[in-house]
Amino acid sequence: MVQTAIVLPFILLNLIMASFYFFLFSMDSKGGFIKYWGFCWIFYSGSLLFLFLYMSHPSVYFLGLRKTMDMMNISYLLFGAYAFARIPIPGYWYRFSLYLILWMAIGAYYDFDLISLFLPVASYQIILTVMLCYILYTRWPVSQKEKGLFTIIFMIWGIGKAVFSLFEAQYVQVFGFYLIEILFSNVLNVCIFVIYILKTRSEISRADRIFKVIAENATDVIFYYTLGAQKGFSYISPSIERMTGHPPSAFYSNPKFYYEILDSSDYGKADEIFENQKIERSLSPYTLTLYHKNGKRIYGEITVTVILEGAEPVAVEGFIRDVTITKLAEDELQASRKSRELLLSYVSHELRTPITSILGYASALKDGTIQEREEVAEAMDIVINKSITLERMINDLFQLSKLETKQFSFRFRKMEALDLTISLINKYSLDIEKGNLKLQTKIDYEGLSDVFLYADPERMEQVFANLISNAIKYTHPGDRILLRFVIDKKKKNMQIHISDTGIGISKADIPYVFERFYRAESPPEVRKASSSGLGLTICKELVEAHGGQIFVKSRAGQGSTFTVELPIYTEEQIHQKEGKENSDA
Ligand code: ATP
Ligand code: MG
Repeated sequence: MVQTAIVLPFILLNLIMASFYFFLFSMDSKGGFIKYWGFCWIFYSGSLLFLFLYMSHPSVYFLGLRKTMDMMNISYLLFGAYAFARIPIPGYWYRFSLYLILWMAIGAYYDFDLISLFLPVASYQIILTVMLCYILYTRWPVSQKEKGLFTIIFMIWGIGKAVFSLFEAQYVQVFGFYLIEILFSNVLNVCIFVIYILKTRSEISRADRIFKVIAENATDVIFYYTLGAQKGFSYISPSIERMTGHPPSAFYSNPKFYYEILDSSDYGKADEIFENQKIERSLSPYTLTLYHKNGKRIYGEITVTVILEGAEPVAVEGFIRDVTITKLAEDELQASRKSRELLLSYVSHELRTPITSILGYASALKDGTIQEREEVAEAMDIVINKSITLERMINDLFQLSKLETKQFSFRFRKMEALDLTISLINKYSLDIEKGNLKLQTKIDYEGLSDVFLYADPERMEQVFANLISNAIKYTHPGDRILLRFVIDKKKKNMQIHISDTGIGISKADIPYVFERFYRAESPPEVRKASSSGLGLTICKELVEAHGGQIFVKSRAGQGSTFTVELPIYTEEQIHQKEGKENSDA
């Protein structure tokens, strides 16, 4: 009786193993084979149950049922192997099993001798075992040694079980006999579990490899940021170095390293992503402004998903895409659209007046309203002058609209401060003399030597052409114009003062002279021929684009001093600037 009862705990053990396999299957439905192996151990429990019944009530029916269960046990082991190797299970195995069950039923009913009754099943079990070993051996991607060991265990078990089953009726009462079978079966059970573990491990490492290939070769940056006590980057793909110039290690060692590459205006957004626990489940793409290690500005579009454990966010994962090119193209498009609009509005407002007067004089000339020789000549003069103004105005407006929308391209280069000084004086001394004015100059030679500017010479000339022509225009003949070139060491800039002793600007007008189209009231004798009121506006834009400033000090009736301040650099700083410009281009 004790011998019999010993079977029962094994039934339980095998049922537990089967449920464990089903549990594994529910966790990862891709491992379909584990489901078949779960069934396999259910059938084995059934086999033990009938063995138990047979031992207490020997009947050929119990024995037949045990054989049926054994056959199903091996069949499902084979089915598991098929699923493991991803081969569809052929239908004939089911049909054979059915025929054999029928055979045993008929045999038991007609009282066949045990050998004839069970020989076909035993042979069939051997075929199943061989097939099982063949599949595992040929399709299982592990080392030869591991495969060999498992195949031998499977063979011994399958064939041994089949052969001994023929003589079971005689030996069943021998205590050690079935115990060996049970123990061997459980060893096999463990083997199957090991197969599962090995397979899962190789799958994980394969998934890991695939992920690595994707992550390490993507141009996008992929990251995983852990929240909570262990806060920091758990993973950031190497492409971060291509994007920002900083290696992944910089991000691993400092959880807040993202501050180093972010524009301060985006700190809030970054904190929302990496700090705040109440972030939304997923953030729609958001464009961050970043800086490359070399100072270049880049735009990164970040997409984030929050990983939750229950309701608690535990990590954020996402990717960053470099959208600099698209963003710049978009900005440029918008700016050029705006510059067009601006130009259009100027044209419609400001160009109308000269055109109206040109049209008026031209039609008066045509229909003969103006006939006197002198009048005709005067009208012609006006038409010509207005046309010149118009042409200048159009050019100025075009340049201004480009400047105001940062669409104007400069050709900055290294210039020596002293060179600029000399060339300006040479260039305009004749104009000043022609305007019947005296030119005075003051040059701080010592300060100016070995000092460099980073400027566009053509634009600088444009600035001074306007300032000097203003000085000539608004100063009475016979007066003087003073050009002063000094270096302010403290402010690190070069100052160019253009002073005249002309009509000056009233206190009320001063704040507006740099505004477009602004012209202060001036006495009629002032040479106003082609004045548009855009000169100073353009000067201001140009000087500011050089990183400088322009301002005026003036008193009505006493003259004005316009000052241009330009930043100065050492030769080394200029090299750096040039290098950066090249890398931007
Ligand atoms: P434009 O330069 O387009 O031909 P403009 O000289 O009138 O025309 P700005 O150079 O912009 O225009 O100057 C704006 C206004 O500022 C002038 O119309 C004038 O009233 C005043 N202004 C500029 N420079 C001087 C100066 N040196 N003395 C007195 N007033 C000046
Ligand atoms: Mg002017």
